[in-house]
Amino acid sequence: MPQLKVLIPAEKIQTRIDEIGAQIARDYPGGPVYMVAILKGACIFLADLARATPVPVRIEFIGISSYGRGKSSSGEVRLTKDLDVSLEGHDVIVVEDIVDSGITLSYLVQVFRQRKPKSLRIATLLDKPERRQRPVQVDYVGFQIPDEFVVGYGLDYAEDYRNLKDVCVLEA
Ligand code: 5GP
Repeated sequence: MPQLKVLIPAEKIQTRIDEIGAQIARDYPGGPVYMVAILKGACIFLADLARATPVPVRIEFIGISSYGRGKSSSGEVRLTKDLDVSLEGHDVIVVEDIVDSGITLSYLVQVFRQRKPKSLRIATLLDKPERRQRPVQVDYVGFQIPDEFVVGYGLDYAEDYRNLKDVCVLEA
């Protein structure tokens, strides 16, 4: 049976998200801001981040194929669900659960730039900088973590563990 070890407890996650929410309020004094969550992992982070800022927020989702059932990236990125609205002329924050190799986000930034937003920033709950293969500029980072496979708070392993309140390391 795999073991779960708490890496970031729920209270710490909420405190950090409140700080990022306050930063977003300073960066976008008027709003509205489009927060676009990358399905499925980022939906819980988006739900908390959107409520942690007083700025008017509009919520969108985009689907990307990622790790499938394994623990390592195939290196291939594919759009599985596109946005329902045009982002042209809007302030956009792409909300991601974790940046690992950077392959997903560097692809997405290209996709988003083609949509001509007024501004584009990236928020990620977790960042594994050691693993980066493509450079990506991340504007809001919740926590930098070591190179370990984590689950919980939206992150899965083969679709399990997304509803854990803490971010945990999955040990084999
Ligand atoms: P990247 O394209 O940056 O390598 O990977 C980004 C995606 O890989 C994330 O959105 C996430 O779905 C998945 N991923 C990367 N590291 C982890 C991890 O430690 N745990 C889980 N559950 N998913 C991860």
